Amino acid sequence: MSSNSDPASPNPLTPQQIADLQQRAIAAAHNAYAPYSHFRVGAAVLLSDSTIVTGCNVENASYRLTTCAEQTAIAAAVSQHGPNIRIRAIAVANLNATASPPCGACRQTILEFSTPDTVIYYPVADGTIASTLMADLLPAAFLLSK
Ligand code: ZN
Repeated sequence: MSSNSDPASPNPLTPQQIADLQQRAIAAAHNAYAPYSHFRVGAAVLLSDSTIVTGCNVENASYRLTTCAEQTAIAAAVSQHGPNIRIRAIAVANLNATASPPCGACRQTILEFSTPDTVIYYPVADGTIASTLMADLLPAAFLLSK
């Protein structure tokens, strides 16, 4: 768990790439629509072709229809780059100085477009950034044979 290295991945990002991805996630969080929770989250998705696509949480008065930053970013990535995208890494950030690992629904959404070495970066309670491989973030994941 470190923002300065990525030892878990066989295809690690450089510290500069990680920092850039985190900065893009923070920038996206500034666009969050969060009038109810005031929890402003951003996500930056690094695709296998090195493209970065961002998203933020978009809340709704019904609460139930709220969309997380990770899901918004992935929907944008598919919209812009097609159904065959593969995610190399995702950075999640928030403007509330608190932990924000991807929720269960987001873990399943990330998995859909992941590779075995997809890495997810997210803030944890001690103020550092965790880096976790997808397989560790969502063990025993639901998979439907295609
Ligand atoms: Zn979520």
